[in-house]
Amino acid sequence: MRYVNVRSEELPVLGFGTWKIKGPSGKRILKCALDVGYRLFDTAQIYGNEDILGEAVRESNVRREEVFLVTKLWGSNLHYHKVKEAVRSSLKNLKTTYVDLLLIHYPNSNVPLYETFHAMQELKESGSINLIGVSNFTLSLLKQAEGVRNTHIFANQVPYHPFLPQERLLDYCQQQNILLMAYSPLAHGKVNGNRMLREIGKKYGKSPAQVSLRWLTQQENVLAIPKASAKAHQVENLEIFDFQLTEKERQIIASLAGSAPLNDVTWKVISSVQSLPKVVRQLIERIFFTGSSSLSTVWTAPE
Ligand code: NAP
Repeated sequence: MRYVNVRSEELPVLGFGTWKIKGPSGKRILKCALDVGYRLFDTAQIYGNEDILGEAVRESNVRREEVFLVTKLWGSNLHYHKVKEAVRSSLKNLKTTYVDLLLIHYPNSNVPLYETFHAMQELKESGSINLIGVSNFTLSLLKQAEGVRNTHIFANQVPYHPFLPQERLLDYCQQQNILLMAYSPLAHGKVNGNRMLREIGKKYGKSPAQVSLRWLTQQENVLAIPKASAKAHQVENLEIFDFQLTEKERQIIASLAGSAPLNDVTWKVISSVQSLPKVVRQLIERIFFTGSSSLSTVWTAPE
């Protein structure tokens, strides 16, 4: 495993995404991921799988301190007391006394950022969380978040893969030394159908998925969290550190942006919602976050 260093923290550059991993079969998948070597896991309150992740870690041979756990606050849990309550519940589910990184899952302009950060900061001081971050924050939202007094944003988790560029956001994260956690790094598996990625991979005996993950993890301040339920995929995704893409190949991959039919609807919607008047934005976000979890699954799972 390689590591990424951000603000004196050392994290595995490749983590494990857990969205849609649920139930007893999900627990087996998580145990397998621990066995094959993953040490950073990305979950969220809305995924409904914090409990099986906690059990998988507890039942494994790996010590809690060796695992980096990331979870996320859903948009309806951003008020001060809700944050506290939600984190208590996450800790109980995860069977741990602390999470390594707590993220605001989506921006929600109905709740002032300082209120949420204030609660997160107190949780940090009491040792319930180690690091604070955000997810799905555009560049302008990230700058706003950074402007909140006494807040140190450690990470922003956004979709990032060869077909979805994040150039400006990444530049900014590198300048400010913020971690960019690349979610859906395989474009939900679609990278495998790309001819150019396959061509580049042939030279190294690697698959398009491996080329994509190597491309991401060769970038400063980037950490990728692919999800893989198949053991073969879990292992394959870890086998990316024995080759190095050339500068030319990296440029070719960067030029694939937009070349595949995108399904990152969430990011497109979030980005366009930001330009709407605040009252419209608030209304949309209120409907979204107070909707049922099935609505949120539809929203976050465009197939
Ligand atoms: P992804 O990691 O881009 O793709 C997952 C898909 O790729 C699965 O169908 C998986 O198949 C397949 N796959 C994995 N390794 C492969 C390989 N080596 N070769 C071929 N196919 C492979 O998509 P994602 O689940 O959307 O994103 C990853 C994680 O990011 C999530 O699990 C979640 O933790 C996080 N995320 C966060 C947000 C947010 O709002 N913050 C939103 C979306 C996702 P199998 O499962 O069959 O192995």
